[in-house]
Amino acid sequence: AKETGRDTFCFYDANMNARAAPRLRLELELRRAVERQELYLVYQPKADLLTGEVSGCEALCRWRHAELGMVPPGEFIPVAEESGLILPIGRWVLESACAQMREWLDAGVACPHVAVNVSPLQFLRDDLVADVSALLSRYRLDAGALMLEITESTLMRDPERAIAMMRRLKAIGVRLAIDDFGTGYSSLGTLKRFPIDYLKIDRAFVTDLTTNASDAAIAVSVISLAHSLNLRVTAEGVETEGQLLFLRGRGCDEMQGYHFSPPIMPAAFADLLAGGRGL
Ligand code: C2E
Ligand code: CA
Ligand code: CA
Ligand code: CA
Repeated sequence: AKETGRDTFCFYDANMNARAAPRLRLELELRRAVERQELYLVYQPKADLLTGEVSGCEALCRWRHAELGMVPPGEFIPVAEESGLILPIGRWVLESACAQMREWLDAGVACPHVAVNVSPLQFLRDDLVADVSALLSRYRLDAGALMLEITESTLMRDPERAIAMMRRLKAIGVRLAIDDFGTGYSSLGTLKRFPIDYLKIDRAFVTDLTTNASDAAIAVSVISLAHSLNLRVTAEGVETEGQLLFLRGRGCDEMQGYHFSPPIMPAAFADLLAGGRGL
């Protein structure tokens, strides 16, 4: 019902609108979120499974809207990706994480690495490398202290292009991790060509690790695959002592999850680092 002449009846599907409206509202509100300073980052500590010490952290974006309240990333990140808003937001996330790293350094607490999530759209943009290196010099950061997490499915969209981009990022010295590993079907042949440092086992395989034999087998094979390629392995979503012991016993290098700590505010993370509290 596109024509709205005299005799044409204009359809208005209230049902469809009811579903579209919140999505559109979210996009409109998200468009202003950066300038309204509604976004902030929380940091989830990662722990070295061998030493028990904090080995780094992952920056995770949060959005607090005046009326909508907290909007979970699972809701706004997809909207940001579909609308292209992930570009300004991703740039804001990178800059905020770098500014935070500088603040921690100035306060005398050094975090071994801070990982930032890079979305598919952001990753395939040519200016990412220039952006990252400009931020590293502006905040006088050691490139090795910044890690970029890129999901396996992002990399598998166009592996050749991804490899080229990763080489350029490695050339400036940042570390790279494949995020959500196990969900994107990369072949061993492709995987070994990715110039990466870490594999992160997706939470989907960690949750039932101690009760589901096939999840356990997947985790064990990801760990040995990673080690055969000289990569370090991080398990995400570790919530129990049982999962922790299993992973440590199989030689997993690093863990992240509620069992150690949820994502926390920067001051709390600085306290954690300063206090030397580990696993
Ligand atoms: P992700 O990159 O896989 O991040 C890990 C998610 O697991 C985070 O959810 C974290 O809070 C959650 N998590 C950590 N430990 C546990 C645990 O023990 N149990 C459970 N159940 N969950 C745990 P969060 O913060 O809600 O973020 C969800 C997703 O949104 C992230 O998944 C990432 O894909 C995306 N995201 C968050 N921040 C950013 C960002 O700055 N940029 C981009 N591009 N994506 C982001
Ligand atoms: Ca991640
Ligand atoms: Ca992940
Ligand atoms: Ca995940």
